[in-house]
Amino acid sequence: MNFHVITIFPDVCQAYTDASVLGRAQKTFKGKGAKVRGKKISVDYYNPRDFATDKHKKVDDKPYGGGPGMVMKAEPILKAWQKAVGRKKDQKKVKTLIMSPRGKEFTQKLAMDYAKKYDHLVLISGRYEGIDGRVKRALGAEEVSVGDYVLTGGELPALTIIDSVSRQVPGVLGTHDSLEDDRVTSGETYTRPETIEYKKKKLNVPKVFLGGNHAEIEKRRGK
Ligand code: SAH
Repeated sequence: MNFHVITIFPDVCQAYTDASVLGRAQKTFKGKGAKVRGKKISVDYYNPRDFATDKHKKVDDKPYGGGPGMVMKAEPILKAWQKAVGRKKDQKKVKTLIMSPRGKEFTQKLAMDYAKKYDHLVLISGRYEGIDGRVKRALGAEEVSVGDYVLTGGELPALTIIDSVSRQVPGVLGTHDSLEDDRVTSGETYTRPETIEYKKKKLNVPKVFLGGNHAEIEKRRGK
Protein backbone atom coordinates (compact mmCIF):
# COMPACT_ATOMS: atom_id res chain seq x y z
CA MET A 1 0.00 0.00 0.00
CA ASN A 2 1.35 3.39 -1.00
CA PHE A 3 0.07 6.46 0.82
CA HIS A 4 0.41 9.93 -0.67
CA VAL A 5 -0.35 12.81 1.67
CA ILE A 6 -1.02 16.29 0.35
CA THR A 7 -0.48 18.70 3.22
CA ILE A 8 1.13 22.04 4.02
CA PHE A 9 2.52 20.41 7.20
CA PRO A 10 4.44 17.36 5.94
CA ASP A 11 7.01 17.39 8.78
CA VAL A 12 4.38 17.13 11.48
CA CYS A 13 2.86 14.08 9.79
CA GLN A 14 6.14 12.41 8.91
CA ALA A 15 7.31 12.41 12.52
CA TYR A 16 4.35 10.17 13.26
CA THR A 17 4.52 7.87 10.25
CA ASP A 18 8.28 7.29 10.74
CA ALA A 19 7.78 6.00 14.29
CA SER A 20 7.04 2.53 15.62
CA VAL A 21 4.93 0.10 13.57
CA LEU A 22 4.43 2.41 10.59
CA GLY A 23 8.12 3.33 10.50
CA ARG A 24 9.12 -0.33 10.54
CA ALA A 25 6.61 -1.19 7.81
CA GLN A 26 8.38 1.26 5.47
CA LYS A 27 11.75 -0.47 5.83
CA THR A 28 13.35 -3.61 4.47
CA PHE A 29 15.33 -5.47 7.06
CA LYS A 30 16.96 -8.79 7.75
CA GLY A 31 15.25 -10.84 10.41
CA LYS A 32 16.51 -13.97 12.14
CA GLY A 33 18.04 -16.55 9.80
CA ALA A 34 18.76 -13.82 7.24
CA LYS A 35 15.10 -13.70 6.30
CA VAL A 36 14.53 -10.53 4.35
CA ARG A 37 11.35 -8.72 5.12
CA GLY A 38 10.15 -6.42 2.37
CA LYS A 39 8.56 -3.00 2.66
CA LYS A 40 4.87 -3.25 3.35
CA ILE A 41 3.88 0.39 2.94
CA SER A 42 5.27 3.65 1.63
CA VAL A 43 4.29 7.15 2.71
CA ASP A 44 5.12 10.16 0.53
CA TYR A 45 4.39 13.79 1.20
CA TYR A 46 3.54 16.59 -1.22
CA ASN A 47 3.37 20.18 -0.07
CA PRO A 48 0.96 22.31 -2.14
CA ARG A 49 3.32 25.22 -1.48
CA ASP A 50 5.91 23.55 -3.71
CA PHE A 51 3.36 23.54 -6.51
CA ALA A 52 2.15 27.14 -6.14
CA THR A 53 2.98 29.18 -9.21
CA ASP A 54 2.91 32.79 -7.98
CA LYS A 55 5.97 34.36 -6.43
CA HIS A 56 4.52 34.37 -2.89
CA LYS A 57 3.79 30.61 -3.05
CA LYS A 58 0.21 31.29 -2.11
CA VAL A 59 -1.90 28.23 -1.26
CA ASP A 60 -5.01 30.01 0.02
CA ASP A 61 -7.29 32.85 -1.00
CA LYS A 62 -10.53 34.61 -0.02
CA PRO A 63 -13.79 32.70 -0.58
CA TYR A 64 -16.04 33.66 -3.49
CA GLY A 65 -19.37 34.89 -2.18
CA GLY A 66 -17.81 36.21 1.01
CA GLY A 67 -17.63 34.69 4.46
CA PRO A 68 -14.91 34.29 7.03
CA GLY A 69 -11.46 32.80 6.60
CA MET A 70 -9.51 31.56 3.63
CA VAL A 71 -9.93 28.67 1.20
CA MET A 72 -7.20 26.37 -0.09
CA LYS A 73 -6.60 26.99 -3.77
CA ALA A 74 -7.35 24.16 -6.20
CA GLU A 75 -4.41 24.30 -8.61
CA PRO A 76 -1.49 23.61 -6.25
CA ILE A 77 -3.40 20.61 -4.88
CA LEU A 78 -4.24 19.32 -8.36
CA LYS A 79 -0.59 19.64 -9.37
CA ALA A 80 0.52 17.81 -6.24
CA TRP A 81 -1.96 15.01 -7.02
CA GLN A 82 -0.63 14.80 -10.58
CA LYS A 83 2.91 14.41 -9.25
CA ALA A 84 1.80 11.76 -6.75
CA VAL A 85 -0.33 9.42 -8.86
CA GLY A 86 -1.16 11.14 -12.16
CA ARG A 87 1.00 8.76 -14.16
CA LYS A 88 -0.15 5.52 -12.54
CA LYS A 89 -1.45 3.29 -15.33
CA ASP A 90 -4.07 1.45 -13.34
CA GLN A 91 -6.17 4.31 -11.95
CA LYS A 92 -8.67 1.77 -10.58
CA LYS A 93 -6.04 1.00 -7.92
CA VAL A 94 -5.88 4.68 -6.91
CA LYS A 95 -8.32 6.13 -4.36
CA THR A 96 -8.39 9.82 -3.52
CA LEU A 97 -9.79 11.00 -0.21
CA ILE A 98 -10.41 14.58 0.89
CA MET A 99 -10.44 15.11 4.65
CA SER A 100 -13.66 16.91 5.54
CA PRO A 101 -15.87 17.13 8.64
CA ARG A 102 -18.84 16.88 6.26
CA GLY A 103 -17.65 13.70 4.57
CA LYS A 104 -18.69 10.08 4.89
CA GLU A 105 -17.75 8.64 8.28
CA PHE A 106 -14.51 6.66 8.25
CA THR A 107 -14.93 3.22 9.86
CA GLN A 108 -13.01 0.00 10.48
CA LYS A 109 -14.88 -1.53 7.57
CA LEU A 110 -13.68 1.22 5.23
CA ALA A 111 -10.11 0.69 6.48
CA MET A 112 -10.37 -2.99 5.53
CA ASP A 113 -11.94 -2.20 2.15
CA TYR A 114 -9.27 0.34 1.24
CA ALA A 115 -6.48 -2.05 2.21
CA LYS A 116 -7.96 -4.75 -0.01
CA LYS A 117 -9.03 -2.74 -3.04
CA TYR A 118 -6.31 -0.15 -3.62
CA ASP A 119 -2.55 0.15 -4.11
CA HIS A 120 -2.47 3.93 -3.77
CA LEU A 121 -4.37 6.08 -1.30
CA VAL A 122 -4.10 9.85 -1.77
CA LEU A 123 -5.09 11.82 1.33
CA ILE A 124 -5.77 15.50 0.85
CA SER A 125 -5.54 17.44 4.03
CA GLY A 126 -7.35 20.77 4.32
CA ARG A 127 -6.63 23.82 6.46
CA TYR A 128 -8.42 27.13 7.02
CA GLU A 129 -12.08 27.00 5.87
CA GLY A 130 -11.53 24.02 3.58
CA ILE A 131 -10.59 23.19 0.01
CA ASP A 132 -11.86 24.69 -3.27
CA GLY A 133 -14.77 22.44 -4.31
CA ARG A 134 -13.30 21.85 -7.76
CA VAL A 135 -10.61 19.56 -6.33
CA LYS A 136 -13.27 17.00 -5.49
CA ARG A 137 -14.89 17.32 -8.93
CA ALA A 138 -11.65 17.22 -10.88
CA LEU A 139 -10.29 14.15 -9.11
CA GLY A 140 -13.54 12.27 -8.53
CA ALA A 141 -12.45 12.21 -4.89
CA GLU A 142 -14.44 11.10 -1.89
CA GLU A 143 -14.84 13.26 1.23
CA VAL A 144 -14.27 11.42 4.49
CA SER A 145 -14.68 12.49 8.10
CA VAL A 146 -13.01 10.87 11.08
CA GLY A 147 -15.78 11.89 13.44
CA ASP A 148 -18.50 14.34 14.27
CA TYR A 149 -16.27 17.22 15.41
CA VAL A 150 -14.25 19.90 13.67
CA LEU A 151 -10.45 20.02 13.77
CA THR A 152 -8.13 22.80 12.62
CA GLY A 153 -6.70 20.67 9.82
CA GLY A 154 -6.86 17.39 7.95
CA GLU A 155 -3.46 16.14 9.17
CA LEU A 156 -4.77 14.13 12.12
CA PRO A 157 -7.57 12.62 10.04
CA ALA A 158 -5.06 11.66 7.31
CA LEU A 159 -2.78 10.04 9.90
CA THR A 160 -5.73 8.25 11.45
CA ILE A 161 -6.64 6.73 8.11
CA ILE A 162 -3.03 5.78 7.27
CA ASP A 163 -2.65 4.15 10.67
CA SER A 164 -5.81 2.08 10.55
CA VAL A 165 -5.44 1.05 6.89
CA SER A 166 -1.78 0.04 7.45
CA ARG A 167 -2.76 -2.35 10.24
CA GLN A 168 -4.85 -4.19 7.66
CA VAL A 169 -1.95 -4.65 5.26
CA PRO A 170 -0.58 -8.20 5.65
CA GLY A 171 2.75 -8.25 7.48
CA VAL A 172 2.55 -4.77 8.99
CA LEU A 173 1.77 -5.95 12.50
CA GLY A 174 4.58 -7.89 14.14
CA THR A 175 4.25 -11.19 15.96
CA HIS A 176 3.42 -9.45 19.21
CA ASP A 177 0.55 -7.53 17.75
CA SER A 178 -2.62 -9.17 16.67
CA LEU A 179 -5.17 -8.40 14.08
CA GLU A 180 -8.74 -8.59 15.27
CA ASP A 181 -10.84 -11.26 13.70
CA ASP A 182 -14.43 -11.02 14.80
CA ARG A 183 -14.00 -8.40 17.48
CA VAL A 184 -12.92 -4.82 17.04
CA THR A 185 -10.67 -4.52 20.09
CA SER A 186 -9.11 -6.93 22.56
CA GLY A 187 -11.21 -5.82 25.54
CA GLU A 188 -9.99 -5.70 29.12
CA THR A 189 -6.27 -6.44 29.41
CA TYR A 190 -3.48 -6.53 32.07
CA THR A 191 0.27 -6.98 32.39
CA ARG A 192 2.87 -7.29 35.20
CA PRO A 193 2.98 -6.77 38.12
CA GLU A 194 0.07 -8.68 39.63
CA THR A 195 -0.50 -6.04 42.28
CA ILE A 196 0.07 -2.31 42.11
CA GLU A 197 -0.40 0.25 44.84
CA TYR A 198 -2.16 3.48 43.97
CA LYS A 199 -3.04 6.10 46.58
CA LYS A 200 -2.53 3.54 49.35
CA LYS A 201 -4.93 1.07 47.75
CA LYS A 202 -3.95 -2.30 46.34
CA LEU A 203 -5.14 -2.96 42.80
CA ASN A 204 -4.97 -6.60 41.70
CA VAL A 205 -5.23 -8.24 38.34
CA PRO A 206 -8.60 -10.09 38.34
CA LYS A 207 -8.01 -13.76 39.24
CA VAL A 208 -9.55 -15.13 36.05
CA PHE A 209 -6.64 -13.66 34.02
CA LEU A 210 -4.08 -15.53 36.14
CA GLY A 211 -5.78 -18.92 35.92
CA GLY A 212 -5.05 -19.97 32.34
CA ASN A 213 -8.65 -20.89 31.58
CA HIS A 214 -8.87 -19.35 28.13
CA ALA A 215 -12.59 -19.81 27.70
CA GLU A 216 -13.19 -17.94 30.97
CA ILE A 217 -10.73 -15.22 29.99
CA GLU A 218 -12.37 -14.70 26.61
CA LYS A 219 -15.75 -14.52 28.32
CA ARG A 220 -14.47 -11.90 30.73
CA ARG A 221 -13.01 -9.91 27.84
CA GLY A 222 -16.47 -9.79 26.34
CA LYS A 223 -15.68 -11.85 23.28
N1 SAH B 1 -15.54 25.43 8.11
C1 SAH B 1 -14.98 24.26 7.55
C2 SAH B 1 -14.09 23.57 8.56
C3 SAH B 1 -12.71 23.47 8.09
S1 SAH B 1 -11.70 22.61 9.21
C4 SAH B 1 -16.08 23.30 7.13
O1 SAH B 1 -17.21 23.46 7.55
O2 SAH B 1 -15.79 22.38 6.37
C5 SAH B 1 -10.21 22.62 8.32
C6 SAH B 1 -9.83 21.32 7.68
O3 SAH B 1 -9.68 20.36 8.70
C7 SAH B 1 -10.85 20.73 6.72
O4 SAH B 1 -10.67 21.21 5.42
C8 SAH B 1 -10.56 19.25 6.80
O5 SAH B 1 -9.53 18.88 5.89
C9 SAH B 1 -10.03 19.08 8.21
N2 SAH B 1 -10.99 18.49 9.16
C10 SAH B 1 -11.53 19.10 10.25
N3 SAH B 1 -12.34 18.28 10.93
C11 SAH B 1 -12.32 17.09 10.29
C12 SAH B 1 -12.95 15.82 10.50
N4 SAH B 1 -13.78 15.61 11.52
N5 SAH B 1 -12.68 14.82 9.62
C13 SAH B 1 -11.85 15.02 8.57
N6 SAH B 1 -11.24 16.20 8.31
C14 SAH B 1 -11.46 17.22 9.15
